[in-house]
Amino acid sequence: MKIEKSSQDLENEVIYGGLCIHCGSCNAFCPHMDFNKETGLAYVVDECAETVGLCYNACPRSFLPISEIEQKMFGQTRVDLGVGVYKDIIQVKSKNKDKILYNLVLAAFESGVTKHFVLGEPKSQKPPVSFPVVVDNANDAKKYIPEKTMDLAGPLVTGIGQAYLDRKRDIGILGNPCHLQGLAKILTSDFNTGAERTTLKIAFACSSGGMAGCKYCTDFSGEFSDISYSPWGAPKGSEEAFLIIRTDIGQKVVDHAINKKLIDITSKEPDLSEMKKFLNRKRRKNFINLLGKDLITAKYLQLNIDEFRDILE
Ligand code: SF4
Ligand code: SF4
Repeated sequence: MKIEKSSQDLENEVIYGGLCIHCGSCNAFCPHMDFNKETGLAYVVDECAETVGLCYNACPRSFLPISEIEQKMFGQTRVDLGVGVYKDIIQVKSKNKDKILYNLVLAAFESGVTKHFVLGEPKSQKPPVSFPVVVDNANDAKKYIPEKTMDLAGPLVTGIGQAYLDRKRDIGILGNPCHLQGLAKILTSDFNTGAERTTLKIAFACSSGGMAGCKYCTDFSGEFSDISYSPWGAPKGSEEAFLIIRTDIGQKVVDHAINKKLIDITSKEPDLSEMKKFLNRKRRKNFINLLGKDLITAKYLQLNIDEFRDILE
């Protein structure tokens, strides 16, 4: 999967087109792209001679062939139009004072799935607020565990590129769904980048990261993660959350967290109705935003007819 477009097209179609969500995928591995260290905004550093640009092909907002990525990542297409591909959904709570997300990161380190983790460090009030940090142990991760998805909004995928340059392997990332869309495009592309050193992707299910481009986002649950964490739809005020487990590696980390009593299952077959209501509201609203913008822009999702029907019904 390679499209013959490059940084000029990325600027015109995505950055100036109002679709950019400052995820950092375009500048994670390309020296001709960067992000502003004050604002977090993506920009083209200099014109390159590439006709098939990694930046354009990595960007989740240039085009997003969902079914093709699912086939490559999971060996199947989605089992649920809103939730994506998954093996299991459980409701959990954390036994100790630490939060569920932190305990998943801890389980990833303890189980040997990751040796490093890319997280977001909020530095500004105005989205995108967060900048990538790479930590080498669970203790250092503690202060970067987000409370809300806006805490993660920023060019975090660039952290995978930084870790690669530092010769790190077995890298985990905790991001919003859009980060993992960009990373999934890189991982399933025909470019050699080093992104395959990523061994775990955890998504924070996201209603909005507070950025202008968020109003065109239809991924609530983090469809290209190994594990998605969704406090949305879990019983209110209970400190519980849903974990959407999509892959064997995600299952391994969750199993470790359960076996070590870092998290407890409170329901093996939770009531998903509130989460799905929430999720479908976002999909419908944002898809209508896309149609309102223009049909060419809406094409970035490359939705099939079932998804059109699902969203508009
Ligand atoms: S890859 Fe992310 S940061 Fe770069 S242009 Fe696309 S949406 Fe913006
Ligand atoms: S709504 Fe969330 S997942 Fe979607 S683009 Fe915004 S921050 Fe990313």
